[in-house]
Amino acid sequence: MKIQAIRVYQVDLPLTEGRYTWSDGRHVQVFDSTVVEIISDTGIRGYGEVCPLGPFYLPAFAAGARAGIAELAPRLIGREATGIGPLNEVMDATLLGHPYVKSAIDMACWDLLGKSCGRPLCDLLGGRHGESIELYRAISQRSADEMAVNVAQYREQGYRKFQLKVGGDPAEDIRRIRAAAEVLRSGETLIADANTGWRVDDAAYVAKAIADVDVYLEQPCRSYEHCLSIRRRTALPFILDENIDGIQALLRACSDGAMDAINLKISRVGGISKARLIRDLCVSLDIPMTIEDSWGGDIITAAIAHLAHSTPARCRFSATDFNSYVTVRNATGAPIRDNGCLAAGASPGLGIEPDFDVLGEPVAEYRA
Ligand code: MG
Repeated sequence: MKIQAIRVYQVDLPLTEGRYTWSDGRHVQVFDSTVVEIISDTGIRGYGEVCPLGPFYLPAFAAGARAGIAELAPRLIGREATGIGPLNEVMDATLLGHPYVKSAIDMACWDLLGKSCGRPLCDLLGGRHGESIELYRAISQRSADEMAVNVAQYREQGYRKFQLKVGGDPAEDIRRIRAAAEVLRSGETLIADANTGWRVDDAAYVAKAIADVDVYLEQPCRSYEHCLSIRRRTALPFILDENIDGIQALLRACSDGAMDAINLKISRVGGISKARLIRDLCVSLDIPMTIEDSWGGDIITAAIAHLAHSTPARCRFSATDFNSYVTVRNATGAPIRDNGCLAAGASPGLGIEPDFDVLGEPVAEYRA
């Protein structure tokens, strides 16, 4: 089964809440998502999606994804569509770095592989563990009181894990964390995620001030060394996210005892293939993971569900249902949150069918 053509679509995904704000006042109102369609010579088509969290979260941006795919696609035409290992070798040899550019292509090839053998992706990634995956809800940065109200509101939708977006003014962040912790109920989990936003001295100040609060601290500072420094000064459970961009970073962090859990984002590491490698390593090392992506719509939500559902429950910290954060559905068949949980579908591949009325005409097409 050879790759005959690659089409690229652009779709805007406005936020249900109108706006999503995280550290340093960074915010997004409409996400710019890219959908890749890989058409094989058998007629089977595979789909993938990549959606950076604006251009200022990770070294990734939406137009960059499409520009990078333009570099890669001509080198992939005519190759075996289900040869995911060789395809990744070609992508890595053609374009150094830029993992997010490769993510939607890798995802689309996994979708093709699943469809070609009639199995859902979670079967190919190791098999389904349990009935469903527990989700967390990101609480967009607002005033302390508003964020506490949002925790209570999202509890009504079944969520039991709440990730507060902090990384702003340290004194205000302390109020945010305390206000949310006040409304927390037994069995619920609170995470204060600074998304690299605190200076190291501010992070130390916050960590000391909330030492008595039942809360996880996530990625306080930009640099790994500053995060490690804070980790060594606090007894709070600690999560690394933005710094875990590949195997080397994970191994170093493990060796340093730098975290209790990680956040694994599919596109940050280059797609499902590389995310699976990190996932399997974390399972071997007993490191819990939140499995997700930087952002996305239905296609990415399906990919998250398959990767998370094929992860042993003991190593699943949480996952994300991005398709419930946005107002536009870019595909049918994607899993839908049920009482705070998500389950991978049983249909072959990702189990989704893109909505071409929403995607419109391709913005680019590559063929032999
Ligand atoms: Mg995070």
